[in-house]
Parts: sequence; C-alpha cells; structure tokens
Amino acid sequence: MKGVKVLKFGGTSMGSARAIKKVIAIIRKPRQDARIAAVIVSAMSGVTNELIKCAQLASKKDSGYKKILKDLERKHIAAVGELIGAKHRAKTLTCVDGLFRQLESVVTGAYRLQELSPAGMACVVSFGERLSGHILVGALTDRQVRCEYLNARHIITTDEQHESAAVDFVRTDKNIRSHFRKHTSLQVVTGFIGATPDGRTTTLGRGGSDYSAAIVGAALGAKAIEIWTDVSGIMTADPRLVPKAKVVPELSFEEAGELAYFGAKVLHPKTILPAMRKRIPVKVLNTFMPEDRGTTIVPNFAQRRKKSHTVDALTFKSPVIAVHINSPKFFDGNGFIARIFEVFNACRTSIDVVTTSVTSVSVTIDDEKNLPKIITYLQELGDVSIERGKAIICAVGGAVNAAGVAGRMFTVLGQHKIAVEMISQASSGVSMTFVVGTRDAEKALKVLHKEYIEG
Ligand code: ADP
Ligand code: ASP
Ligand code: MG
Repeated sequence: MKGVKVLKFGGTSMGSARAIKKVIAIIRKPRQDARIAAVIVSAMSGVTNELIKCAQLASKKDSGYKKILKDLERKHIAAVGELIGAKHRAKTLTCVDGLFRQLESVVTGAYRLQELSPAGMACVVSFGERLSGHILVGALTDRQVRCEYLNARHIITTDEQHESAAVDFVRTDKNIRSHFRKHTSLQVVTGFIGATPDGRTTTLGRGGSDYSAAIVGAALGAKAIEIWTDVSGIMTADPRLVPKAKVVPELSFEEAGELAYFGAKVLHPKTILPAMRKRIPVKVLNTFMPEDRGTTIVPNFAQRRKKSHTVDALTFKSPVIAVHINSPKFFDGNGFIARIFEVFNACRTSIDVVTTSVTSVSVTIDDEKNLPKIITYLQELGDVSIERGKAIICAVGGAVNAAGVAGRMFTVLGQHKIAVEMISQASSGVSMTFVVGTRDAEKALKVLHKEYIEG
C-alpha cells in the first residue's frame, strides 16, 4: 500500500504570495512514493513576532498596537488578492476578516485590562498559523486541489504551559488517527499550536511547527516527514555565521537531535523524538530550490557512523550559565550526584552539559528563572559558584571520538587563545560538547569549521 507523507512549510515558505505559489507547486507535484496526508503551516514570516509585539503593547496601554493590527490585516488581505481568483476569494476574505475581528477583540481586552496572561498570549499568536492555513486552503481550492483546513487545537492536546506546552501523546495520537480516518482529503494543519483538554489554546514554543509536523507524521506512521524551509538542508554550521557552510546530505537522528538542541535553528529541538520513536526519516528541503537533495535524517546512527570519519557539523548555544558545586563530601560518593540532579529536577530546570571530578560537579543551564531557589538548595550540599556569559559548542559527526579528533580540536582552539572548559563527550561517539566564553563562541565555531570542514 502507498504510504502517507507529512510536509511542513516554515515562515519564509509561507511569507508572501510568491513563496506560497512555490509551496503549492511542491504540494501539487505528482509523487509515486506516497500520498500527502497533511501539510503543516507556519505563520507568514515575521507575523508571530508582530503578534507578540502587538499583544505586549496593548497590555501596556500603548495604542500603537492598532497600527500593527492594521498592517497585519493588510498583509494577509494582499496575499489573498494575489493568490486566490475571484471565484474563491470572497470565502477566504470572509474568513480572514472574521479572524481579525476575533484577534482585535482579544487584544482590545488586553488593552482595557492592561494585562495579558500566558493563555491570552498563546491565543493571540495562534492567529498567525490560523490565517496562513486558511489562505493556503483558499489558494489550493482555487487550483482544484481537494483539501480541508484543520486547526491543530482539535488534535494536539497539551498541558497548561501555554507558551511551551508538553504534548499528551496518548490523547494526541488517538485524536490524529481518528481525524485522519474520517478525513481523507489533504489536511492543511496549523503548526505551532495545540490546546489543553478543556480547549484553551497553547503553543509548542517558538519554532514549534517542525514539532507539529513530527507529531502528526509519527501518529500517522508516515513514510517520511518533510520539513520545507529556506535553506537546502541542515548545514555544517549556521550559514548566517559561516558563509562557507555546506549542506550535510545525511545525519543520524542522534546527530540532528544534538544540533537542534544546541542551537541549530533549522529544526525545533523536540522534532526528532516522535520521528525517532517510529523510525520515520525526516528530510529537510528548500522550498525555493525544490530540486536540491537536502538533508535526510536517518534512523540508524551506527550505519551512518561507518560513512563519516570526522566532524560533520557544528553549532553553539548561547548564553548559558555554569553552576559549579564543590564539596569534599563527594569523596563519600553514595548518591551525591543524584542529590544534585534532584535539585534541578525539583526546580524544573533542565541541565545541558555535566562534568564531574572527585570534588566537584559542574552543570550548565539556560533558564535562570529558578536559579535563586537552585542555589539555596545546592548550598546544603557544597560551595556553589555561578558563572554567566558562557556558550556551549557542540560538534557532531561519525567519528568525533576517534583517536586524535579531540586533540586536534583543542589544539586549534588553543592556538586561537580560546579557553575551553567542561568538555563532555557522548559515549556513543555522536557528539563532543564543551563550554567557552560567549565572546569566543562565534570565533570557536569559525575556527573549527575551517579546520574540519573547509579543509
Ligand atoms: P522556517 O521558518 O522554515 O522554520 P527557520 O528560520 O526556523 O525556518 O530555520 C531556517 C534557518 O535556520 C535558516 O535560514 C538558517 O539561517 C538557520 N540555521 C541555523 N543553523 C543552521 C544549520 N546548521 N543549518 C541550516 N540552517 C541553519
Ligand atoms: N510561527 C511560529 C514561530 O515563529 C512557529 C514556527 O514558525 O515554527 O515561532
Ligand atoms: Mg523554524
């Protein structure tokens, strides 16, 4: 049986009528291998940021929010005008108008009350994907492509953390399967958003549409999940920082996961897990150069490792905070590290890098919301010191733990007077991470890219 695919188009791909025409051409291209069951869409580029700004101004009693609303409305109406012929235009315009009137009433409420809760903000930003979704449906219908709009609030069930909610996979998978059993035409799904069990809007965190695509793809057991964006795949480094960065044709789930987690914006960090659980290949492709091969993220690290002999890609995450705990009690061993981790767990703060010695444990965190509480608890276990202004550099590749790779890496950094701390190597050999000062992060990335990738 022919399987199904799930495609996701990001903000730039949905960013203008011209770009949306390219999206439509990709959707309409005949495919022998699988039927497209769902297309996940982001808001038009820049719209989520503008919606956030609009809501923030309103809640501070700044009537400047009205201009943002007007500009956003104009932008969406112009896209409808350029994309949809007279026969179907009125229906989409009514829909867009209805959404703007709803948005206006939510933001006006924030203006009057001078207040906006996280739930209110999630509601405001959801309009970005709802608008682009309706416009794509109108444009596809106008070109005789049978499709339906699907607000992800009806399928993705989450907890109450409105601005970066955790997905309830049991309910969500059930919702998705039951919806797609009943709806066999192409579903145009709003990325980024979900809802609590009682129907309040939530978001999956900034850049979360990639994750939405993986959630839907995994629930449907798709043959592939395609992430269509504005670059021709995952590159050896952020191309905005390293102009000589090149596309990596193939990465393992583990490598892509590490890159996404440590800052490579091209994929939302949570995207990998649902795909990995179901072993569904994820492709990263370029909407503006659809013939390029892109990157394929494959399930098997061991197999890929045989093909790669060096560092394949580099990224960094900045700023992070280093927390050091020193205590002679570590000599006693038993359960000490567990107690340290328990503090971070109790304070709902995730740890990125960990290094240990006989008398000290160092970790990095990027969220300092609960830092005062963390310090208070840790002080019961030892002397605590904090260093801000740090960055984590992460190198992935089939052989980052091969003989000589680490030596060469740190020699090169030393030659450029970049001090390295907290070195940590994945035992699987998938990655090497270490900490430098934020001021050195870009330089370290460039130097290592030159050494390993540019040659
Ligand atoms: P979309 O709107 O399609 O989701 P994003 O802006 O979220 O696109 O992600 C794509 C961008 O990620 C690229 O334009 C690029 O500037 C940036 N990026 C950062 N690191 C990398 C990397 N290693 N490979 C490719 N792109 C990267
Ligand atoms: N529109 C959302 C954002 O800008 C989600 C996404 O683009 O993935 O964060
Ligand atoms: Mg993105």
